[in-house]
Amino acid sequence: MASKAKIKAVTGMNDMLPGDSAIWTFFEDTVRDVATSYGYRPMRTPVLEPTALFTHGIGEATDVVEKEMYSFEDSLNGEKLSLRPENTAGIVRAAIEHNLLYDAPRRVWYFGPMFRHERPQRGRYRQFYQFGCEALGFAGPDVDAELILMTSRLWKELGIREVKLELNTLGEPAERAAHREALIKYFEAHLDALNETARHRLYLNPLRILDTKDPDMQQLVEAAPRLIDYLGEGSRAFLASLERQLERAGVDYVINPRLVRGLDYYSHTVFEWTTDRLGSQATICGGGRYDGLMEILGGKPAPCVGFAMGAERVLELMKEFGVHPTEPDCTVYVVHCGEGTLDPAVEVAEELRDLGVATIVHGGEASMKSQMKKADASGALFALIVGESEAAAGQVSIKPLRELPEKTAFSGQKTVPAEEAARMIFDEILVIDTKDL
Ligand code: ATP
Ligand code: MG
Repeated sequence: MASKAKIKAVTGMNDMLPGDSAIWTFFEDTVRDVATSYGYRPMRTPVLEPTALFTHGIGEATDVVEKEMYSFEDSLNGEKLSLRPENTAGIVRAAIEHNLLYDAPRRVWYFGPMFRHERPQRGRYRQFYQFGCEALGFAGPDVDAELILMTSRLWKELGIREVKLELNTLGEPAERAAHREALIKYFEAHLDALNETARHRLYLNPLRILDTKDPDMQQLVEAAPRLIDYLGEGSRAFLASLERQLERAGVDYVINPRLVRGLDYYSHTVFEWTTDRLGSQATICGGGRYDGLMEILGGKPAPCVGFAMGAERVLELMKEFGVHPTEPDCTVYVVHCGEGTLDPAVEVAEELRDLGVATIVHGGEASMKSQMKKADASGALFALIVGESEAAAGQVSIKPLRELPEKTAFSGQKTVPAEEAARMIFDEILVIDTKDL
């Protein structure tokens, strides 16, 4: 028989395997709990959207839209579609489509896969996960501060240290327009020093030139006109208020005048959390205020602010700091061996699950000894043993698999009536603080 070719995953797209599930679950539980504790509600939008949503909503002269999008024409109906490279545009689209802001502003969060056709490397993938929050309809700067406080709390809860918060303001559109003109003049006077990308961006999106990582352009960019010098009273006050709130909350930051988002619908706050523990994939979270986006996407104008963090990078960083959550497969492992033992085994397992106790019934047939080995390997606290003699007597044996604290009733194996077993184990678990084990 001809051997079949193995089909592999798409380059840059990862499988999450069971061995990694504990850290992912910990991350997902933590971000959900923290977002919930600030009153944010979950929202989910499709991974596939009309391409126009992103060309309008992210902007043509950005890396994401210019060269990172998975776009295609649906061969069945000719629609132009893209896999979402980020989720803000989708959230805003949905907010407009469902008139979400009709009576009040909204705080929402999301978690899910994003897609960008980039060169895969550590911390940079073609499918990656983002957790993000959007505060829709809030003028700030109080909510800007709230979001930054939330991210700062998240690092603590996730066990991450030594991250740096960089902050900047993009001011108001009119202020940016004046700065933009000055920038173009400045760069026009130094055309020879611009690399190809910068020349391409000169009139499309000159602010983005400031963002360059090209070492040859650093000096030029350092000396460029600074937006901060073009800010009016209102923008200065906005930033000052945000700074005051961060200081009050004890969140350290540095102002980075070169931190930019090159699109017209951004205003005021931009921020990034960075680390020097992950090589060049240093940004773990980016956010900012996008007061103009609702209107650009056809909605009523509404001021908004949000952030997105890359889960893979955050997980890498957790591992750097020794965060390795583990998760037993179950709390009780039911071993059954011999004639008439499967039915009572399943019955007691279902009773345990009724009580919320994670229970595995050994699958298939095997010797008692090999099943006990599996029970041990599962990380369970108890093995529940149903042998032929137990089954015949309507009993089961409970065997602790870990050394349990003294206050517990099970110092060794105990045979009990089958109908009492689930409740007895449940009562035991209540008195065991798993942290003592
Ligand atoms: P970078 O400068 O690293 O390309 P970005 O500015 O493109 O990041 P954003 O669009 O602001 O990133 O996305 C928010 C966060 O999502 C990033 O800070 C990062 O943590 C994560 N992220 C972005 N692109 C990827 C990717 N290809 N793979 C993994 N994580 C990513
Ligand atoms: Mg990028």
